[in-house]
Amino acid sequence: MSEFCKAPPGSLAVSSESLPILPTAVPVPAQPLRALLDTAESELLAWLATIGEKKFRAGQIRRWMISRRIQAFDQMTDLSAVLRQQLTEHFSFSSLQTVRHQVAADRTEKLLLRLHDGELVECVLMRDPGRRTVCVSTQVGCAMGCVFCASGLLGVKRDLTAAEIFEQVLVLHRLMEDDEKITNVVVMGIGEPLANYRNLMQALDMLCSDDGFGLGARRITVSTVGLPMQIREFARCGRQFNLAVSLHAPNDELRTQIVPVNKGTGLQEIIAAADDYFEITGRRVSYEYVLLAGVNDQPHHAEELSRLLRGRNCHVNLIPMNGVTELVMTAPGEPRTHQFCELLKDRGIPATVRKRKGADIDAACGQLRLNRTATDAASKDE
Ligand code: SF4
Repeated sequence: MSEFCKAPPGSLAVSSESLPILPTAVPVPAQPLRALLDTAESELLAWLATIGEKKFRAGQIRRWMISRRIQAFDQMTDLSAVLRQQLTEHFSFSSLQTVRHQVAADRTEKLLLRLHDGELVECVLMRDPGRRTVCVSTQVGCAMGCVFCASGLLGVKRDLTAAEIFEQVLVLHRLMEDDEKITNVVVMGIGEPLANYRNLMQALDMLCSDDGFGLGARRITVSTVGLPMQIREFARCGRQFNLAVSLHAPNDELRTQIVPVNKGTGLQEIIAAADDYFEITGRRVSYEYVLLAGVNDQPHHAEELSRLLRGRNCHVNLIPMNGVTELVMTAPGEPRTHQFCELLKDRGIPATVRKRKGADIDAACGQLRLNRTATDAASKDE
C-alpha cells in the first residue's frame, strides 16, 4: 500500500483545488515511442511535411528499414544528421526486443522476442542449401489447444499487429550474412494465423510488395488448424499462397482428442474447404501430421488417412513430435515413422518426413516462450 492510501477514513473528501501542488515523487515514465513500421505511410508523410522534409524521404527511410541490415536510424547514411536525430526522437527503430537468441549446430537460429507490452513471441531462421526459410508467429499464445503444442498451454493473449508479424522477418533478416537472402516464409509459429486474418494479410502484402521483400506468394506458406470460412476467404484473396492444413488424425474422434477445436468443425468440412482452396488457386494443399507415439502413428491410422485423402492433389508432411518437457507425449522411433510414410506412399499419397531443424535448441513451437514465462512467474513469486 502506498503512503497516500494510509490516510484516515474521510480525510480524502477534499476538493482537488484545496490540495497543495507537490513535486512529482515518482517520475512519470516516458510514453514509449511508436515503432516506425507501425506508422501508416500517410502519417509518416504528414510528419515529414511538418519538419520540412520532402515526400521522397518516406520511401528512402522505408528502403533502409527493410532491405538493408541496419540496427538504428543513425545508420541511414544518406539522410542528414538532423533528420536521423529527429527520427530517433520521434520513433522507435523496432517494436521487438530480442530476449533470447539460440543458434543450433545446423545454424538454425531461434529468437524469443519481447513486444512493446512485455508479451513474448518466437521466430526461427532455418538454413538449407540454396534456401533460407523464416518461420513467424501471428498471435501471443494460441486458443486452439492442440495437446502436443507448447504454444497452446497458456491460451491466447492477443493478436499480433501486421507490423509485429512483418518485423519478425526483418529481425531474422538482420541476422543473416550479406550473401544470404530470405527465400521462403512459413507462417507456422505461435498462434493460429487465420484467426488473425486481417493482420496476417496486411503482413503478407508487406512481404510481397516491391519495397518489402518482393517475395512471390508461392514462397509463402500459411499453416492452419482448419478454419473453413477463413480458408475460403484466403482462397479468394487472388494470390497463390501455399496452404498447409494441420490434420494430425484420420478421424474426428481421434482428432478432437488431439486438436480440441475440431469438435465444432469436423474433418469433412475442413477437407472440403481445402479442396475449394485447390480448385480456386490451383495450389496443391499440404496436410501436416504430427506423429505422436502410440496415439496416431499406427499402421491402421496410415490406412485410414490414405482413404481420407485418396484422389486429392495433396502432400502429407509427417512431423515426428518435438519433445516438450511439460507434455508427456513423444515422437515414435525412426522405424515406425518410416513405416507410416511408406504406407501412405504405397497407397498413392505423396508423403515425406519433415527434416528436424535445430534439434539441439528449444525448437518446438512455443517452448522458449513457455520456459521464459515460467521463469518470469517464478521470479515474481520469490
Ligand atoms: S499447433 Fe498451432 S494451432 Fe495448435 S496450439 Fe500450437 S500454435 Fe496453436
